[in-house]
Amino acid sequence: RSSTTSFIGLGRMGSEMATNLFSKQYAASKDTHFVVCDAVPEAAQSFVNIFTQQNPGANVTIAESPQEAALKAGTIVTMLPSSPHVKEVYTNRIIPALASLAPEVARDTLFIDSTTLDVDVARAVASEVTRKGASMVDAPVSGGVTGAKAGTLSFLVGGPEASFNIARPILALMGQRIIHCGESGAGLGAKICNNLVLGVEQIVVAEAMLLGQKLGLDPAILASVINSSTGGCWSSSVNNPVPAALPDKAPPCERDYEGGFATALMLKDMGLASDIAAKQKSSLPLGRAAQEIYERVVKEKQELARKDFSSVYLYLRDGKCN
Ligand code: NAD
Repeated sequence: RSSTTSFIGLGRMGSEMATNLFSKQYAASKDTHFVVCDAVPEAAQSFVNIFTQQNPGANVTIAESPQEAALKAGTIVTMLPSSPHVKEVYTNRIIPALASLAPEVARDTLFIDSTTLDVDVARAVASEVTRKGASMVDAPVSGGVTGAKAGTLSFLVGGPEASFNIARPILALMGQRIIHCGESGAGLGAKICNNLVLGVEQIVVAEAMLLGQKLGLDPAILASVINSSTGGCWSSSVNNPVPAALPDKAPPCERDYEGGFATALMLKDMGLASDIAAKQKSSLPLGRAAQEIYERVVKEKQELARKDFSSVYLYLRDGKCN
């Protein structure tokens, strides 16, 4: 396998994941080459500047296109916003270019897509990549920007056992838990179900925290009760939306909801859940209600679209759902 690794998509998650992956690979072998690519050239350039400052002498170059990034490497990781971007990058760019690879090179090429996207789109892309002789796994992540930075992400992987076994040590450089969920698309199925729970939970925590304050409760006391009782969940104990509710932690609300997981991305994930539920005829009453609320937040309070999705609290606090 080529010892070059490419990373396509250096956004909030990708830049942190690539930093961990490349610096650990570089520490293990100074001969490793790295290639990065992003639709926004400044994102790639800024990654290279920071990475080479932290890893003097490292060989990292910017590819002009995803196909160039793919053809140069033995391992290619993609971390893009969603289905349309994965379609554009793989179907229009990478897959046609794979025809120029010698069969023995294609056989040694592994694609890892960590984007959260539609299960059917991911399966179709993986099947085309496989038809061209290369391997591919879906490996969406849980753990957010903090987990990406700390290298403690959970990877939920879908794909053949053999591809999973090749991907596992690479994923272990960016995460702590690597779970093989099943065949192609299974990682995404698990990820979408997890985010369905999370999206609903974050809204109900906001509702409870608002109601509690109206009843005269101190947010820190209320949060500590919920977190040590049966209502405890990540949305309350780590991502509590009320400033000062978690005195020992630094959730996004403490920095005006900047960073974290964007409301627009949560809306996208709720859409993925409701699309796949409709196809499977699986009922989703709370999921659809939550999706509608995130839709209204993004439409009516556009400044919250890029902020952490716990800012749904601000929307409810303004009485928008009364
Ligand atoms: P982001 O928007 O910050 O990053 C995406 C990057 O992809 C951007 O830099 C963008 O320029 C680049 N890109 C878009 N189209 C491209 C193309 N055609 N070619 C090359 N580059 C292109 O998003 P993010 O927050 O890093 O999230 C990435 C994925 O991870 C999403 O699917 C998201 O749902 C998932 N995710 C995010 C979080 C989080 O906390 N942010 C947590 C878990 C999973």
